[in-house]
Amino acid sequence: RTEEPWRDFNSSRVYLADLESALHHSLRVELALQSVIKGNALTALKAYISVLAKYFPGRPVVMNLLKSLNSWLQNQNEGPISYEAFRERVDNTAQVPDAALPEGVRWVGCQGSQPHFRRYPCGVWTLFHVLTVQANNAGGSDPKEVLNAMRNYIHNFFGCRYCADHFENMAREGLEEVTTLPSAVLWLWYRHNRVNNRIAGDLSEDPYFPKIQWPSPEMCPSCHTVKYNGEHTWNKAQVIPFLGSYFSSSHILTDYLE
Ligand code: FAD
Repeated sequence: RTEEPWRDFNSSRVYLADLESALHHSLRVELALQSVIKGNALTALKAYISVLAKYFPGRPVVMNLLKSLNSWLQNQNEGPISYEAFRERVDNTAQVPDAALPEGVRWVGCQGSQPHFRRYPCGVWTLFHVLTVQANNAGGSDPKEVLNAMRNYIHNFFGCRYCADHFENMAREGLEEVTTLPSAVLWLWYRHNRVNNRIAGDLSEDPYFPKIQWPSPEMCPSCHTVKYNGEHTWNKAQVIPFLGSYFSSSHILTDYLE
C-alpha cells in the first residue's frame, strides 16, 4: 500500500474529514461484512441511519445522500435486506441529484503514527460525541435516541468484538441514568474516559497520542477542580458547555475535504 502523506492538524479541533471517513468505513467496509441484514441488526441499522440523517453535521451533498438512504431504508418493512441493495443507495446508483458520500478515507485529527493506530475507532468516538451534541442543540425529543442507536450499531456491527462487548456492558449498567439530552452528552464523555483509563498503556495505544482523562487541564482549565484534600474532580457544570462548543457543527473544521 502507498503511504498517505501526513496531514498537519490541530489536536484540539474536530475535522469533518474524519467524520466523513468514519461514515465511509462504516457504510462501505464494516457493514459490507454482512451479506444479509435482518431482525435486530436491521432495526439497529435503521436507527443508526435515522440518527445520521437527523444529526450528522454534513455538507449538503452528504446530507442529501443520508436522507435518501434513510427514506429508502425506513420503507424496507418486509426485511431482510441485502447489503448489495443498501450499497446501491450508499453509492447513489439511482443518481438522486446532488447526493454523494465521498469514497475512501482521509484521516486528519484521527491520523495515527502507524497505520494500525487510531483511524476508524477514533472516528467512531468522534462521530458519536458529535451526534449527542447535535441532538442536544437540536432539542431532540428522546434523550437516549443517539446513545441507543450507537449502542445497537456497536453491538451488531462494530468490527472490534471485545470493544463491543465492553461497551455493551457499560451501556447495560448505566444508560437508565440518562434522562435529559445534556445527560446523554455527559454519559458518553464519562464512559469514553473510563475506556481511556482502562486501555491506557496497552499495545493498542499510539505512543504519540497517549490516552488521557479528557479534556486536559490545558484544554479546559475550568473543567477540573482539585478538592482541599488534593483529590481531582470534574466540574460537570463546565464540562457540558465545553463539549457543546468543542463538538458543535459551527466549530468543526473542513480542511482536507475532497
Ligand atoms: P480515541 O479514544 O479514539 O478518541 C478519539 C478522540 O476523541 C481523541 O483524540 C480526543 O480528541 C477525543 N476524546 C478522548 N476522550 C474523550 C472523551 N472522554 N470525551 C470526548 N472526547 C474524547 N480499544 C481497546 O483496546 N479496548 C477496548 O475495549 C476498546 N473499546 C472501544 C469501544 C468503542 C465503542 C470504541 C468506539 C472504541 C473502542 N476501543 C477499544 C478503541 C479505543 O477506544 C480508541 O478508539 C483507539 O485506541 C484509538 O484511540 P485514540 O487515541 O485515537 O483516541
